[in-house]
Amino acid sequence: MTDILFLSLSALSAVSLGMLAVTKSQLRARKREVADFKNKEVDIQASVENVKDKIKSITDLYIASDILIHLQSEKNVYAEISKTLKSLYNCENILIYSFDEDKRVYNKEFCTPGTQNFQDTIDISHMKVKEFFSEKDISTTVLNSNQKPLYYLRMSGRRVSTPEGIISGLFTETDLQVLNIYLRQSAMVLDKLKAYKKMERMALTDSLTGLYNRHYAHMRIKEEVKRANREKYPVSVVFVDIDKFKSINDTFGHDVGDIALKHVSSLLTLASREYDVTVRWGGEEFVLLLPNTDENGAYILAERLRNQIANSKFDYCNITASLGIASFPTDDINIDTVISYADSALYHSKQTGRNKTTLYSNIAHMVK
Ligand code: GH3
Ligand code: MG
Ligand code: MG
Repeated sequence: MTDILFLSLSALSAVSLGMLAVTKSQLRARKREVADFKNKEVDIQASVENVKDKIKSITDLYIASDILIHLQSEKNVYAEISKTLKSLYNCENILIYSFDEDKRVYNKEFCTPGTQNFQDTIDISHMKVKEFFSEKDISTTVLNSNQKPLYYLRMSGRRVSTPEGIISGLFTETDLQVLNIYLRQSAMVLDKLKAYKKMERMALTDSLTGLYNRHYAHMRIKEEVKRANREKYPVSVVFVDIDKFKSINDTFGHDVGDIALKHVSSLLTLASREYDVTVRWGGEEFVLLLPNTDENGAYILAERLRNQIANSKFDYCNITASLGIASFPTDDINIDTVISYADSALYHSKQTGRNKTTLYSNIAHMVK
């Protein structure tokens, strides 16, 4: 009986020990599982953070692009790009160049104070842009679909906060990817504005001479007369008409007539100052709009121009022109009246022998 009991107890303890052994190994496995889970949780958390970061980058990009497409001037677009990049990357210095395909140079479009010393143009036939900049900082060229350069960007001085404080930061692969998407978008906006500006210029200028056209002149004369009225300063309008131009066409042909028109328009441009507006009014008639110039000033300029035309070297024949001047406030405030006065003065120059300048104020008594 004792034996049986002993045997039974032994058997029981063996079973219990065995169970204990099983429980220990299970416990180790569980512990491993728990550790694995913890690692996985850390991984998942990191992935969630990563996805959150990416969503934030995409949202930032979307907002930044949305702002860009509503801007109306290239200057504002460059300033906005710089503002966005500074806030996305916490960079100190931003430098942006755009590529001029005709001249094959990069032109500096935007720079923060720390990058002011960089040259205004970089001739890429002499120097590869990548070689020009330091490799340490982020620098990227935006290419068009034919792999031709469009824009060049350089960023430096990135700062990031860490538990140890603010340190110099590096740019990651994701940074570069996000940056390239943003720059593509910016390039599209800038190209659209450039094309629009070109169309606008074409609509306002004369294709033969490159001077402003009559449509633009009307708008500007109106504006200038208004401003002169408001701010009480003079403005003058000078009409210029080439003498006997028809005979140049008749004698040498229309092409030579065109060359003569370009010749006179370049003299007009040379004679004018920065704020003057030079216009091809139509045919062989030109207009000079002279803001902040009274009739005496306009007369001096007109006489200088008349002499320059008469003494200029034109391969086919001598060219002369007749001029007429009307000034505000001496004459009248209405744009149509100012134009018709200048025209009357010009007509007087023609009637009295050509190659002459007439001030409307000198003939007003005859016209009225
Ligand atoms: P005036 O001294 O009285 O001003 O005589 P004019 O011959 O200069 O003036 P007119 O108005 O008789 O002739 C102007 C000529 O200009 C007639 C026209 O065929 C010519 N013309 C107008 N536009 C152009 C152009 O774009 N190119 C050329 N080659 N000729 C033009
Ligand atoms: Mg003429
Ligand atoms: Mg004429």
